[in-house]
Amino acid sequence: MTPCTDYKAAIRAYTEATGKEWHPRAALIDMDGTLYDSMPNHARAWQRLMREQGIDLSYEEFFLHEGRTGAATIDCLFRRELGRPATEDEKRDLYHLKTIYFQEQPPVDPMPGAEQMLCELEAAGIRRILVTGSGQSSLISRLSTDYPGAFSDDDRITSRNVSHGKPHPEPYLKAMELARTEPWESIVIENAPLGVESGVKSGAFTIALTTGPIPQKTLADAGAHLVLPSMLALADILPELLSPNH
Ligand code: CA
Repeated sequence: MTPCTDYKAAIRAYTEATGKEWHPRAALIDMDGTLYDSMPNHARAWQRLMREQGIDLSYEEFFLHEGRTGAATIDCLFRRELGRPATEDEKRDLYHLKTIYFQEQPPVDPMPGAEQMLCELEAAGIRRILVTGSGQSSLISRLSTDYPGAFSDDDRITSRNVSHGKPHPEPYLKAMELARTEPWESIVIENAPLGVESGVKSGAFTIALTTGPIPQKTLADAGAHLVLPSMLALADILPELLSPNH
């Protein structure tokens, strides 16, 4: 599918497809690769962990699993590469090890443009909800420092709040329940194909950003309504995108 990079055309197509007027009241925002430039560290930690299990995969491979819970990623790779599911003990122990490998790496930076994006949402009166498949407490606990006031403790959906991680729609459906919004009143902001799939299945207007090696076309194929080249690009067009007069 050709990526839609024109926000007016994207909103028109969304309105036509859903039959609902788009009227955003809440933004449901992914964390890794969206609020933080954390995916390179995650990919390196996963690559090291899997190599130790005899599973040698490319660095880029792990960007395609982004959004899954840790347990689901381990199980998926074991089934594909070893021809068997991972046991509950393996899922727990290996994810614990992956968390250690992630924490051993250099500190992760906030994504350029993310603060501006959050400010533009606030200025437009849009409620901000964090929606992450991560249980990575080292990053979640930094949110209040890096983005003060953006997400209250009640405005967060993490791996602890859902039974099914992305690409299942549950994380975004739970976030809408929390925000008390309908899909056509919600914007999903994502960077990964599985996250985009989750957002699209939830029915929300889903914006994908290319912040890593995933090509725009892959995000469009996952169903993204609008694909933009960076977080800064989104932050720059947000005032117009959220204006009721476009
Ligand atoms: Ca992500």
